[in-house]
Amino acid sequence: MVTDGQDARSKSRAAQSPGNISRAEETSMSSSYAEFHRRSIEDRDAFWAEQARLIDWQTPPQTICDYSKPPFAKWFVGGTTNLCHNAVDRHLKDRADQPALIFVSTETGQEKVYTFRELHAEVQRMAAALQSLGVKKGDRVLIYMPMIAEACFAMLACTRVGALHCVVFGGFASGSLATRIDDAEPTVIISADAGSRGGKPVPYKHLLDEAIGLATHKPAAVLLVDRGLAPMNLVQGRDHPWGALREQHLNAQVPCEWVDATHPSYTLYTSGTTGKPKGVQRDTGGYAVALAASMKHIYCGNPGETYFSTSDIGWVVGHSYIIYGPLIGGMATIMYEGTPVRPDGGIWWQLVERYKVTVMFSAPTAIRVLKKQDPAYLTKYDLSSLRALFLAGEPLDEPTAQWISEGLKGKPIIDNYWQTETGWPILSLCNGVEKATSKFGSPGKAVYGYNVKLLDDQTGAELTEPNQKGVVAIEGPLPPGCMQTVWRDDARFVNTYWSSVPGKLVYSTFDWGIRDEDGYYFILGRTDDVINVAGHRLGTREIEEAIASHSNIAEVAVVGVADQLKGQVAMAFAVLKDASALNDEQAMLKLEGEVMKLVDGSLGAVARPARVRFVSVLPKTRSGKLLRRAVQAVCEGRDPGDLTTMEDPAALQQIRELVSQA
Ligand code: ATP
Ligand code: MG
Repeated sequence: MVTDGQDARSKSRAAQSPGNISRAEETSMSSSYAEFHRRSIEDRDAFWAEQARLIDWQTPPQTICDYSKPPFAKWFVGGTTNLCHNAVDRHLKDRADQPALIFVSTETGQEKVYTFRELHAEVQRMAAALQSLGVKKGDRVLIYMPMIAEACFAMLACTRVGALHCVVFGGFASGSLATRIDDAEPTVIISADAGSRGGKPVPYKHLLDEAIGLATHKPAAVLLVDRGLAPMNLVQGRDHPWGALREQHLNAQVPCEWVDATHPSYTLYTSGTTGKPKGVQRDTGGYAVALAASMKHIYCGNPGETYFSTSDIGWVVGHSYIIYGPLIGGMATIMYEGTPVRPDGGIWWQLVERYKVTVMFSAPTAIRVLKKQDPAYLTKYDLSSLRALFLAGEPLDEPTAQWISEGLKGKPIIDNYWQTETGWPILSLCNGVEKATSKFGSPGKAVYGYNVKLLDDQTGAELTEPNQKGVVAIEGPLPPGCMQTVWRDDARFVNTYWSSVPGKLVYSTFDWGIRDEDGYYFILGRTDDVINVAGHRLGTREIEEAIASHSNIAEVAVVGVADQLKGQVAMAFAVLKDASALNDEQAMLKLEGEVMKLVDGSLGAVARPARVRFVSVLPKTRSGKLLRRAVQAVCEGRDPGDLTTMEDPAALQQIRELVSQA
């Protein structure tokens, strides 16, 4: 087991835990959430039958959970419902004229509010258009779109007619798009002329044409939104402009298709941080119930309020908490096209003020971007409506958490941990059940429905003592809303996720974690991010945290690199806050020495990186996650493999140059 670094972490946790509440108080406070969680596991069916009442059913479910063929769980069997109905139609009775979708583009300067009634009309137009292009229940519709209102209409139109949407992040190039077209085999593809980034159009259409050319499967039709940003060459007979079809179906009435709770609603790929992306398939009823329950128990958003998630529809957070979750909860949702710093670093807070946002959801990477901006932006706007800021997607480092917590004057910053596979949080605080205090560095406790275990990575044995480091695993059945399987690949589902412990059917997250005395978890990185230095097993995140505590380090990636003598050594690549001396070799050597000293002091000399190199940018996926596997490959002179999800190819080039100089 990993011991090095663990003690240092425990110390820093104790010191920085902000709640000032004692163990005894904490324990007594947690009793009612503990009971809620216990019921969700031990009295599973009764618990989820209750939660199922949060949504509308056409036919109520007969069996709450059918786990007769583990690890495949079928939730709410016999029930029929519809995601679009729950997100849109059912709110017409009480809030038809309240805002549902708030579309803001700081790229094009557009801002438009759609009420539930208007959203209902737009979705039916899109649904009718899809039907006219031959889309039927069970068909796939691939959505390759920027963050525009039509993308929301498109997703809802798919689930309305029982078709599966497969959203592919708009930033992907033709190669990645082509593999996804072949995997999904869509009847129709919906796209647009262009996205926009930093005020410049990013044309999509030629990438789409290229991708369709590369793919074996050819869609019957392509529906194109023309934003007037880039020219489009329409392919006769295949391509259809949305504007004309919308006109044709202006008064369309397309009833919701009632589907079985287990009918798949969509497929979505994981980020591809660790390898070939996996096509996650999600159901309908379980997903709707899970999201409705999470709005109540975790995000504490109420009907009539505004939810602002800064993610993208290309990611799972966009599916769950830009589109479906807030709308199912009767909230208005902000769909934002643009960067966090344009026109200036105050834009998000300005939106919070203007739309009286009560719940906000972002990612640590975005907060780190804002951290480089003038902190005055945080006091410039009236943020009194905001109740909490949720962050997810990657480890929330303590300096970033501290910075934003101070900036928001102590409003709760709630780290939540989950995966594309689960669709909603595995670890969080459930303040809707019982108020709890965040601990910096921890995404909180096991969420109801998740029977979370820590397992010894060698033996698979459960670790029950506090502060032991193990693999975060979930005992089946996974709760409602989690993946049903890998699209068209049941074997990959079982082999990838359920086979890591021989003889035991348990879902592995492939993340390391520890749990403290109070039941709070700390995620220590991915299982393939552990390095072995002369027999000592070290988590890369622990070393990164030590390095990031240096006042001039903005961001850092640590990887293990093969070493003849020690097995592996740590190599660090860091981005400076003040990069003015980046080309001054002496200054960088001095800084490297300082950083090494810091690591020695907090984790011990064994964790000290062989080198600390300084770069202007780190290689990341399009969703902002560090691509350590690619950095490691470059350091070891290997082929970095599939880089289609990488944001900026130049980032890896810098590292390549530094490594070749050495
Ligand atoms: P792939 O599975 O294809 O390699 P990915 O794991 O990056 O890609 P996602 O499903 O987007 O794809 O990311 C989930 C992972 O992100 C988690 O398994 C975990 O490693 C990390 N993560 C998410 N939220 C948190 C968090 N709050 N704290 C720490 N890590 C997190
Ligand atoms: Mg993953």
